[in-house]
Amino acid sequence: MTNFAKPFTQQEAIPQGGIDRAVEILQTGRLHRYNLAEGETSEASLLEQEYAQYQGADYCLACTSGGYAIALALRICGVKPGDQVLANAYTLAPVPGAIHNVGASPVLIEIDDNYHIDCDDLEAKAVASGAKVLLLSHMRGHIADMDRIVSICDAHGITLVEDCAHTMGATWRGIKSGNFGKVAAFSTQTYKHMNSGEGGLLTTNDAELAARAVVSSGSYMLYGRHGAIPAEDVFQKVRLEQPNYSGRMDHLRAAILRAQLPNLDQNIARWNSLYDRLYARFDAMDGVTIPKRKQHEAYVGSSIQFRADGLSRDAIPDFLARCAKRGVELKWFGEDEPKAFTSRYDSWHYIKDIPHLPKTLEVLSKTIDMRVPLTFDSQDCDVIADIIADEMQQT
Ligand SMILES: *Cc1c(COP(=O)(O)O)cnc(C)c1O
Repeated sequence: MTNFAKPFTQQEAIPQGGIDRAVEILQTGRLHRYNLAEGETSEASLLEQEYAQYQGADYCLACTSGGYAIALALRICGVKPGDQVLANAYTLAPVPGAIHNVGASPVLIEIDDNYHIDCDDLEAKAVASGAKVLLLSHMRGHIADMDRIVSICDAHGITLVEDCAHTMGATWRGIKSGNFGKVAAFSTQTYKHMNSGEGGLLTTNDAELAARAVVSSGSYMLYGRHGAIPAEDVFQKVRLEQPNYSGRMDHLRAAILRAQLPNLDQNIARWNSLYDRLYARFDAMDGVTIPKRKQHEAYVGSSIQFRADGLSRDAIPDFLARCAKRGVELKWFGEDEPKAFTSRYDSWHYIKDIPHLPKTLEVLSKTIDMRVPLTFDSQDCDVIADIIADEMQQT
């Protein structure tokens, strides 16, 4: 019986152009984004310009991490200590962490069978809590009905902040994820769609919020060296009001990312060809439920989720262990104890009054997650699917 031998955490190499540029930067010793020789252009600023253009946003800030970008987005949108922030309950730990980081607390919203935020629950809790910000995490790349979400936000005066850690490059009705809300946050951490080890990007079309974000990212009074910013008069208005929460990106990471951005759309197509192959195989398996993607959604299949409905919940640990033994690394979002990157909302004990969300718990109870690295090929997908089908039957 075949086993699978490739690691699920292996990324592709950085494109050679990025490696060469990184070495040049190391040789200059000028790594800090504001440390420029006469006439030198800033890698960080160029990245901001290029990413703003890719995203179709007016302004962009490069910073230290996706979680940092989310917290900063909440701050510039006016979230204050003691405030409540609406957030889908199915997400990863940096999201409630960013809410906690600004002193706020989440109002957790149920999800539906498609891993989307439950819009009825959103509307009910928006009214009941009076919360004025929704932090929407496009978790695992599943984009909810954005028309409905935007209309709920409009109707209740809610500011939408999008966490696009899993949707960089994805669209809904042809509009890029991140362009529906007031501010969007992206991650360039190793396991996302571009890889600088750690890193984040924030985009917005709001000039004043952009200026506030830049100053708060730790620009001292050197904000003029940024690449995708509003005019000086906007900075004059806010520059003394914004605390410096140091979180700048450096030239080295920016250079590594600039080399990857031109390949992003092509990589998305590669991800989706792997994803679509896995999807077809999983969809055909007995005992597996895999939600249909909505037709308005152009996703990025950098990970795949399915529900092991053919197994009892008690049988899942054994199934996972047997897949792991054969080299197939699966994560289980229904596990009581958080493991690796997965955690269920009820394990975030710092949240006051953790709600009981029966629908979310039910959906997650058998939800299995698998990373789809670009170092896999379509044959690998078949081997993986064969192993999963086989072990599913044996369990
Ligand atoms: C990775 C991730 C983040 C945060 O990104 P970091 O760069 O690791 O801080 C936020 N939200 C989700 C859903 C993520 O997966």
